[in-house]
Amino acid sequence: MTDQIPDTIRYDEEKLYIRWRDGRECSYNLLELRRNCPCAMCMGGHGGSIGAATGHIKEIKLNAWKKVGRYALQFTWSDNHDTGIYRLDELRKACE
Ligand SMILES: [Zn+2]
Repeated sequence: MTDQIPDTIRYDEEKLYIRWRDGRECSYNLLELRRNCPCAMCMGGHGGSIGAATGHIKEIKLNAWKKVGRYALQFTWSDNHDTGIYRLDELRKACE
């Protein structure tokens, strides 16, 4: 399970970088992460698909992140949105 434990997490203007405990380094485009926010609102409500309500977003910055338990990360975006919970196993999978 070391491949789902983040050791260091940092970010810049464009990307989020996660170094996992097994040594792998992954980078994620912030705009893509924001557009793929898994919260109900961004998915366009019940029965919507991921990205349905976020396609109009053209630029985004990350203001902060925090861990949610042991299984996910929560981001605070520059549009003040922070309800998306990003599962670590999903983030890791996106990097494989
Ligand atoms: Zn969202």
